[in-house]
Amino acid sequence: MPETLNPASIDDFGRTVVAWQRRHGRHTLPWQNTRDPYRVWLSEVMLQQTQVATVLGYYERFLARWPRVTDLAAASLDEVLAQWAGLGYYSRARNLHACARAVAELHGGAFPATAAGLQTLPGIGRSTAAAIAAFCFGERVAILDGNVKRVLSRVLAFDGDLASSAAEKKLWNHATELLPEQDVDRYTQGLMDLGATVCTARSPDCLLCPVQPLCRGQQAGDPTRYPVKTRKLKRGRRENWWLWLERPGGQLLLRQRPATGVWAGLWTLPMFDDEAGARALLPAARLETLPRIEHALTHFDWVLHTLRAQLPEGPEGLTAQPVGGSWVAREELARYALPAPLKKLIEES
Ligand code: SF4
Repeated sequence: MPETLNPASIDDFGRTVVAWQRRHGRHTLPWQNTRDPYRVWLSEVMLQQTQVATVLGYYERFLARWPRVTDLAAASLDEVLAQWAGLGYYSRARNLHACARAVAELHGGAFPATAAGLQTLPGIGRSTAAAIAAFCFGERVAILDGNVKRVLSRVLAFDGDLASSAAEKKLWNHATELLPEQDVDRYTQGLMDLGATVCTARSPDCLLCPVQPLCRGQQAGDPTRYPVKTRKLKRGRRENWWLWLERPGGQLLLRQRPATGVWAGLWTLPMFDDEAGARALLPAARLETLPRIEHALTHFDWVLHTLRAQLPEGPEGLTAQPVGGSWVAREELARYALPAPLKKLIEES
């Protein structure tokens, strides 16, 4: 079976996706109906590993605080991380900040107007660059995010293993072959919408799908076998202990994590590799054990134990600073970028 569609079907596919988007696609998301690359870029980065419903509030807050890319560039990384806290995948926030600075400093505050130019910026990969270029500048260029990979691999019954870069490259070529001559912005949005609302990962709604007559995956009987991706992540497990030290006035001791690695640049309670290490700092103190946290990250499951100590009244409690870090009043915590599980722990304890 040929891997791509014949020319007439390619025309049909593009026209159908465009017409369906016009009638049935999403039109009211806050990052739609704009050609402002700052707004589109911000939404694309936020949506990379996060659901629309979660992104909405963050998106509005970012724009209210930093209405232009130059405003974001002028912010400190700590401010950006604090605003990002809870969205996860924090390298996105660091790249967001670095990208805003690059746009401000190297491009006079204006995003490059081509996918190739956009791809030179920090954190903007091929698909994100193409989405911004298609939406904002009408460039005829293909995207291949997770939703679009799913739709196209099903329509083409593409059975190359997307764990291999050769197969991924092939799918990129097919995505480019399928591009319509016109309306690339609406076509791009249409593919995204189809993937998000009709051709979903587990239960594609083929009866409602506008491209069903062309879809080889559906015709072959089991579209959910596409896309094929064999590589399994080997998940590890880690265990650490947090030490929650609280002064009589309610201040907590926080430490900033290193600039690289998990939760880079975020603030957490002092962390130890084992319980003995945490207890050794305050051998005489009564430590309360809080409920343990199990947090799943991309590559490993993280079990976090917390031991809490209330420091005594008086000078001893006020000066105690056994492991370095900053004492932060509870009402000041919103200014610090805390990972979501710690935020929840503090709110609930
Ligand atoms: Fe996806 Fe089914 Fe539509 Fe094919 S027909 S694109 S599998 S929803």
